[in-house]
Amino acid sequence: MMVNPAPVLAEYDRHPHADPDGILRDGSCRANFFRAKVVMKDHDGVARIMADQYNRLFFYGRLPMSSLRVRVVHHPDHFGSFSLGSRIIQIDPEAMESYEVFRDTMLHEMCHAYQRLVEFDTTGAAHSPAWLAQAQALGVYISEEQAREAEEAAAPAAPPPPPPRRSLAATLARIAAEVASLLAFGVSMAIASCVPRARRPRPPRP
Ligand SMILES: [Zn+2]
Repeated sequence: MMVNPAPVLAEYDRHPHADPDGILRDGSCRANFFRAKVVMKDHDGVARIMADQYNRLFFYGRLPMSSLRVRVVHHPDHFGSFSLGSRIIQIDPEAMESYEVFRDTMLHEMCHAYQRLVEFDTTGAAHSPAWLAQAQALGVYISEEQAREAEEAAAPAAPPPPPPRRSLAATLARIAAEVASLLAFGVSMAIASCVPRARRPRPPRP
């Protein structure tokens, strides 16, 4: 799920791929987007046309578009989302106001759909390492939070600590240490007990 509160919109001006010379220099897509908006006046239809075009251009036509629905629906804090259960990509109407925001949002969600429906990615994290690699290859905007989620999912779980191993040498060393401490204790006791005895007055000679 793409979490992008509205203020992030301004950051697209600084995004490298908002630059027309970026990796997604897709003039025909951009032209189709605006042409469709003028002709169709139907956000659902525009989003659908663009999704079909992106599927051909960037996903080798492998996304099962016939079973994938595209809806433009308002969401308070998401530009887009993909539901695996209902196979719906939702795009917020605000994302339709800028081609760059629409493109990155749609491609973001299509990467989710591709990883789940084509690659059968079962990683627990929505922004999985495979999703991140694909989104990076396409050059779409990726937030720090999404990148961190993918990196944490990629990190191998810490191995459990090994069980304590007691080698023969370690056992012998432990026994030797205990013997030494006992001996030291015994010697100190012997010294302690002999000192007063040495000070004991000798009995008078007969
Ligand atoms: Zn997402």
